[in-house]
Amino acid sequence: MPKSKRLLTRSEADSFFTRLAETRPDPRTELDYDSPFQLLVAVVLSAQATDRSVNLATPALFKAAPTPQRMAALGEEKIAPFIQTIGLWRNKAKNVAALSRALIETHGGAVPHDRAALEALPGVGRKTANVVLAEAFDEPPIAVDTHVFRVARRVGLSSATTPEKVEADLMRLTPLRFLRGAHHWLILHGRYVCLARKPLCPECAVRDLCRYPDKTGEPAAAALTARTKAKGAKAGAKARKR
Ligand code: SF4
Repeated sequence: MPKSKRLLTRSEADSFFTRLAETRPDPRTELDYDSPFQLLVAVVLSAQATDRSVNLATPALFKAAPTPQRMAALGEEKIAPFIQTIGLWRNKAKNVAALSRALIETHGGAVPHDRAALEALPGVGRKTANVVLAEAFDEPPIAVDTHVFRVARRVGLSSATTPEKVEADLMRLTPLRFLRGAHHWLILHGRYVCLARKPLCPECAVRDLCRYPDKTGEPAAAALTARTKAKGAKAGAKARKR
C-alpha cells in the first residue's frame, strides 16, 4: 500500500475483524495434526507449499513417525519418500530429521513454548514459530506469511514493506479480543477472497473498509441494485412506449 494511503483507524480495524470473525467464528489452521510436534512438522513442510499437499502427505508420515523419537529414528533418507510430493522436499526431509533430533537433545522431546527456542530449531523461522505458538499454545502473535502480508497492506492495516514491520502494525491495530484469530482470518481471507492476482472484491465482506485503490468489479449489492435499476429503466421505457 502506498505510504500516502490512510491506515484503518482502530474502530475500522475492529469492524474489519468483527466481520471476518462472523464468517469463521473459530478459525484454526487447515493443516492436519494430532500433537504440537506434528503441527511443527506440518508447518515446516508447508513453507512454499499448499496446506492441501501437506495434508495429503502427512497421514502416512505421522503414522510411521508420530513422535520426535520415531521421526529421528526414521532419518532423512526414509522421511524423504513420504514428502516427495511437497515442494523443496529434500531440504525439508533434512530439517524434519534435524529438528526431531534437536527436540530430543535439547527439550526432552517436547516442542518448546518459547519463540527463541523454536526459532533455534532447524528449518524454523519466525513465521513457523508464530504459527506454532498461536495454534499449539494459544498465544496471540500474528504470523505474517504471503497472504497476511498482502491483505494487511491492501486493506490498510499496514503500509510497511517487511513482514516484521507488518507484524508490528498488526499487533498495534488488532483489537485484543481478535489477536488469537487474526492470523487465521487474514490467511483465509487472502486464500479465498483477497486473491493475489484478482481479488474477489464484489464478494468481499470488508470492501467498504478496504483502502485498496484497484478493487475489482462492483460490490454484489451495488451490482444487484444497478442491474435492478437498469431493468426498472427498461421496463419504464417500455411502459412509456405503450
Ligand atoms: S475489497 Fe478486494 S482488495 Fe479489499 S480486502 Fe476485499 S478482496 Fe481484498
